[in-house]
Amino acid sequence: MTALLNLVDVIKDYGSEAGTFRALHGVSLDVRAGEFMAIMGPSGSGKSTLMNIIGCLDTPTTGSYRFEGTDTATLSESALAKLRNAGIGFVFQQFNLLPRLSALANVALPMVYSGVSARDRATRAQVLLESVGLGDKPKSRPSQLSGGQQQRVAVARSLANDPQLLLADEPTGALDTKTGVEVLALFRALNADKGVTVVIVTHDPEVARATNRVVRIQDGRVFYDGPPTEAALYGHAEPEVTA
Ligand code: ADP
Ligand code: MG
Repeated sequence: MTALLNLVDVIKDYGSEAGTFRALHGVSLDVRAGEFMAIMGPSGSGKSTLMNIIGCLDTPTTGSYRFEGTDTATLSESALAKLRNAGIGFVFQQFNLLPRLSALANVALPMVYSGVSARDRATRAQVLLESVGLGDKPKSRPSQLSGGQQQRVAVARSLANDPQLLLADEPTGALDTKTGVEVLALFRALNADKGVTVVIVTHDPEVARATNRVVRIQDGRVFYDGPPTEAALYGHAEPEVTA
């Protein structure tokens, strides 16, 4: 079976006047459709860099990244934009909602770019708000909502175009524990009920514990890839034995 995501020897260099910084040192990773996994690692280890590549927001310096078998390097800018908009949902630590738009309009926004009619956008956005428990808040601006509610709106927005893949970079990092648990439950339900592949970057062992697979990275290298054992969750895992 073809992996949903397939990275081979991905290297990412950032250039600046001070020289080149290697953020990823040859990462290889297969993710199957329907997986529910966590990426862990210290601050600065390359987690967001990896997520940006997986989300087609950035490209590898060398190495290959295939999405559903297609080498993303062969996709045009418009094909990549379409993949980002319709194939992949994004959730960020700071919610990234547009402050002047209502919750409903924020959720509807990705559908504007995919050509859904205004009436259908509004109907579907309301359904999505209901699915995250905010059916009574369509008119609220982000500033009128709590952090947890804002993140629910962001989750609803990420689902607007029915993505196969949901990428969440520290989605509970700005939330209290109880609210974080509620947001995590949304991801679990999406994975279990709709088969959405979920990749969550997290510092929190309790978030990663809820997943089926933990990938630990350190200094831009995969250090552990396996089940969420205590050692993996708390960062005492033995280095992965590589051939
Ligand atoms: P993490 O998400 O694990 O905290 P990042 O992927 O954001 O780590 O960053 C990995 C390393 O790459 C860090 O040392 C960071 O400073 C560096 N880095 C990230 N983005 C850039 C960039 N745009 N330009 C230069 N260096 C960057
Ligand atoms: Mg990061």
